[in-house]
Amino acid sequence: MNVKFPKMNFHTHTTYCDGKESAESMIQAALAKGFTRLGFSGHSYTAYDESYCMSKAGVESYIKEVRELAKKYEGQIEIFCGIEQDDGSTESVMPFDYVIGSVHCVEKDGIYYCVDESPEVLEKAIREGFGGDVYALIKRFFEQEAEVVARTHATFIGHFDLVTKFNEGNRFFDPLDKRYRNAALLAMDALLETGCPFEINTGAMYRGLRKEPYPSIQMLKELYARKGEILLSSDSHDGESLGFAFGEVARLAKEIGFRTVKVLSKAGFEDFVL
Ligand SMILES: [Zn+2]
Ligand SMILES: [Zn+2]
Repeated sequence: MNVKFPKMNFHTHTTYCDGKESAESMIQAALAKGFTRLGFSGHSYTAYDESYCMSKAGVESYIKEVRELAKKYEGQIEIFCGIEQDDGSTESVMPFDYVIGSVHCVEKDGIYYCVDESPEVLEKAIREGFGGDVYALIKRFFEQEAEVVARTHATFIGHFDLVTKFNEGNRFFDPLDKRYRNAALLAMDALLETGCPFEINTGAMYRGLRKEPYPSIQMLKELYARKGEILLSSDSHDGESLGFAFGEVARLAKEIGFRTVKVLSKAGFEDFVL
């Protein structure tokens, strides 16, 4: 067992999708923070919403540039070319070193409603797609989440409970409500059967939207009780947020009971003591 996990992040966006910085600028930021590994995970192309993802042509350039940068920075930092594959994406994941399996939108009667765009869009989705019943939307979200590994061929599971993004202060729903718990735990149990690890994602924390990571503390306790495995990611859309609050969430995971954290290497996952 390895001790002290390396400085790294494998959930990283660039201007090829909705990130704010170029791939090289993200590498420079990672180097400045003393990272030894950096994985890029551009949003896969989704036909139903082209606003946040890479374009089809952009995916080709993304792969080419990240591969070139990996060579350029060899010996300084290990670069990985991954993809954040949306569960509704039909693009191949073959060219990538690893895959993050993510649900961003709930599908109802052929219409896709994003749960992470803005509180207004979420509100509209609840009203127009689910007759005003937020727990019906949540049920649908976690039904999709339950299948995310099968649909994306994920290496790890992205932001398991993304539907909580705008729910600070229980603005939209009560996560202790049975309807929420049951839906989430059904998905968690289904995903645990795949053996796929869950990321602890600090993306909403660096944006100041949430005080807790995805999954929430409540869900991390459930995950630990079910012997789930974890890794850390900051879902960075800028260089400054790379590795955000990793110390804090590592301590949190340890307090909950987790003893190890996974980190990707070129040969697959390595386990490190928390
Ligand atoms: Zn995502
Ligand atoms: Zn992401």
